[in-house]
Amino acid sequence: MKIDIATICGGGNAAHAMIPIIRNHFSGKINLFLPFGDEANHFQKLIDEKKLLTAIMGDKEIYGRPNKVSKFAKEVCKEADLILMLLPAFAHEKTLQHIMPFLKEEAIIGAIPARSGFEYAALKILKDNKKEKIKIFGMQTLPWACRIKEYASKVDILGKKKSVGMAAFPHKITSELASFLSRVLNLKIEPLPNMLTLTLANVGQIIHPGIMYGLFKGKEQATYQKETVPLFYQGVTKEIAKILQEMSDEILMVAEKIKVLDKNVNLERVMGLKNWLIYSYEDSIIDKKNLQTCFNTNSAYKGLRAPVKKENDYFLPNFQARYLTEDIPFGLVVTKAIAQLAKVNIPIIDEVILTTSKWIGKEYIKRGYLKGKDIKDARIPQNYNINNLEEIIIY
Ligand code: NAD
Repeated sequence: MKIDIATICGGGNAAHAMIPIIRNHFSGKINLFLPFGDEANHFQKLIDEKKLLTAIMGDKEIYGRPNKVSKFAKEVCKEADLILMLLPAFAHEKTLQHIMPFLKEEAIIGAIPARSGFEYAALKILKDNKKEKIKIFGMQTLPWACRIKEYASKVDILGKKKSVGMAAFPHKITSELASFLSRVLNLKIEPLPNMLTLTLANVGQIIHPGIMYGLFKGKEQATYQKETVPLFYQGVTKEIAKILQEMSDEILMVAEKIKVLDKNVNLERVMGLKNWLIYSYEDSIIDKKNLQTCFNTNSAYKGLRAPVKKENDYFLPNFQARYLTEDIPFGLVVTKAIAQLAKVNIPIIDEVILTTSKWIGKEYIKRGYLKGKDIKDARIPQNYNINNLEEIIIY
């Protein structure tokens, strides 16, 4: 595997963190692809002034900058051996369509994080464009909790996971790619056996909609002052932890049923939520007693508040936040679709989808079926002509 040029797609928090980190461990060229709005010009102008992007991790700082920035795929994707999409899931498909004509025959494209169902969309686009030699991968989460402090200049890395899962297709490239990514990201990247593991073990689908549901169900009209906006992770109560536990258990039931249907499929890395938190944040969780304490005492989550929007002098819950607009159609609804194919009931997840999809003004489930008017926008396998479990398992 020869990777000399890596192109990062996206100019948000995650891309700001990735650039200095990868720069410190990768001797090749780093390109930045920013087709969205005026991001490319804006970024280029500021980085020319500031010279370097600084990632701040506690009392440590690391620096880096991309070699080339462009809004045109032709200029920054054509020569890339590796494409890293640090984008919200709803931008994956559009970005893949956009860059596809310019990609090298044997490029590797990854989504960080993948969320659920990335492989269905990516492999269909490769097939439609006759670029099936291109390899794909996804990571289970973003390795860092990070926020831009100053655009094109400073990013705060608030927390770093101890280890992140990664799956690739074709499977045979997984371990070599995991070694490469471990080196350049300076973090343990754990090879996962298949992309279905990524889809089911997408923990964002539990944590984000589950906590939003717990915090705001029945309090949709609540108003807050800046200092009373609920803490998101530290605000997990015993009752919210119970909802999260039940959602996690339902996903484990889906995985168990698939294993019964096909004994050869390896889903052992689809973990329960508490085990995943401990596995990923071992050093930053102070009290590992139960699921609630794992959220409340995780220093990587400290101080992060629920998404809100300002209206007049107060704040309201922001139901258009990614925690719902990304994690419902690119998370829970995909899991629901797989549960349906596996014939497993997931009533708590159904309830979370039904309630939160109303909040975002979407309808995915209608009378218990995935027949809502917006289902076409969800990344479910059925939208890519995959209608049985056998086809899902091969990825
Ligand atoms: P962000 O909002 O800071 O940045 C998103 C970037 O994506 C934008 O700057 C733009 O370049 C691009 N983009 C957005 N909409 C687009 C569109 N419609 N078409 C093309 N490009 C578009 O997001 P982020 O914080 O960098 O997060 C990236 C991903 O990582 C998301 O899936 C997020 O849920 C996940 N994530 C982030 C964190 C974090 O701490 N920031 C933690 C865990 C997971």
